[in-house]
Amino acid sequence: MIELFLNEERYENDIRALLMAFYHGEKIFARKLGTDAGENSVKPGVGGENLVSRTLEVVYAGGGLRLTLKDGDGQVLGESCRAVFPSDHTEGKNCLKTALYDLLCEAAGRTLPWGTLTGIRPTKLPMAFYDSGRSQEEAAEYLRQTYKVSEEKIRLCTQVAANEKRILEGVDKERSFSLYIGIPFCPTICLYCSFSSYPLNIWAKEVDHYLEALFKEIRQVRSMVDKSCMTTVYMGGGTPTSLNGEQMDRLLSVLEENFDLNIAREFTIEAGRPDSVTQDKLRVIKNHGIERISINPQTMNQKTLDVIGRRHTTEDVERAFDMARRVGFSNINMDLILGLPGESSEDVANTLERIGKLAPESMTVHSLAVKRASRLNQNLELYPPASQEEVNRMIHMAWQAAEAMGLEPYYLYRQKNMAGNLENVGYAKPGKECLYNILIMEEKQSIIAVGAGGTSKILYPEENRIERVENVKSVKDYIERIDEMIERKRQKFPKSGIFEKRA
Ligand code: SF4
Repeated sequence: MIELFLNEERYENDIRALLMAFYHGEKIFARKLGTDAGENSVKPGVGGENLVSRTLEVVYAGGGLRLTLKDGDGQVLGESCRAVFPSDHTEGKNCLKTALYDLLCEAAGRTLPWGTLTGIRPTKLPMAFYDSGRSQEEAAEYLRQTYKVSEEKIRLCTQVAANEKRILEGVDKERSFSLYIGIPFCPTICLYCSFSSYPLNIWAKEVDHYLEALFKEIRQVRSMVDKSCMTTVYMGGGTPTSLNGEQMDRLLSVLEENFDLNIAREFTIEAGRPDSVTQDKLRVIKNHGIERISINPQTMNQKTLDVIGRRHTTEDVERAFDMARRVGFSNINMDLILGLPGESSEDVANTLERIGKLAPESMTVHSLAVKRASRLNQNLELYPPASQEEVNRMIHMAWQAAEAMGLEPYYLYRQKNMAGNLENVGYAKPGKECLYNILIMEEKQSIIAVGAGGTSKILYPEENRIERVENVKSVKDYIERIDEMIERKRQKFPKSGIFEKRA
């Protein structure tokens, strides 16, 4: 545990984020420190001496800043002071983060690949440079000087932002929307899963009831929007191919009856679990004119698949992929996770080699994120995380493998509690990128979500804000309260723009 003592709450979240980046997996316990750190203060170590690994004191006083880092025995590991602390909020934040970052680097004997950047969308920074006509070099220099980002991540971040800008060209983001359809069923539940997903062996009887509710929501949403404004459609979950062929056919037919799918620039269906993929389902999807699917191995090491609770073999992944190619899919994505329990760089090398032989059009590489609601989080002592250096090596290997496969990075985001505090990156052959992934990440287009657990995000560009409309997560509640879900949308959707009602 790390004890954090502050005399003011200013920037507490930023301090926590940097501490977590350096000391991944340690709990942080914050307390108020008296303005005079010598008196009136709670002394470090009180209430848990045996558990405290480090103490950080943050004192804003006399217009300056003082940071003191101590070990569990109260020995000073390092200090950092700024005689003048900026009053401007952003400048103050950058000043504090830089001082703390330098202190932690020295104490830990290492730097972080993303420097002081802890936000989830680092590409926003270079994107703002490009939007104002400034160059890639200027964006790189800003990341280097202001945030101490490593050269490798600068290259990644500026390249992704440039690709995003190119891909988004011609998309009227403010006058259009994308549609998300959630299918919250899976063959089994993965160790690291934090989605509201339901195992099919227990919930199979509810799938038809769920679809009836979903069809009702789709029909009602159709009456609330201008269907000519649809940019992309994405079916995720869960695992949409948990539906059988007949159910999938009915769902796609309902979508066709209510929306003009031909005008959508892209339609993706996640066929994530290879044990849910059959020739029959692939044919149904293909016959409805859908070209992009995602078959997600996560790893090609059997021992890891067994540990994470995916009850299929690595050969099943290859079989599902070959089947999809034979049915005629020309745009297949594959998702991987780096930093899975017990995996080394050699295991990742094996995964990348086998994926390389399959030659998908795109590959999405995630760093493992330990989500609060996952079984992994509840059993962390059984699955110690890989070191940051190891995950960094894996990420570097994935980038090299992507380049060798002719794939370029085109979208990027970070999450809290990621292995090695690193990132998720989507790589694709030019022209095969997933536009929906960029739109949802950039939060620059309204996303209408149907199904249990779906969150619609309505964009108000003039006010620079997003309004969220949430559906309930539980399948049972969704079925029982479908009219309420529809009413929520009816109440919150605006009455103009893409939300004009058209017959
Ligand atoms: S396939 Fe995805 S949604 Fe389904 S259990 Fe695994 S992580 Fe969760």
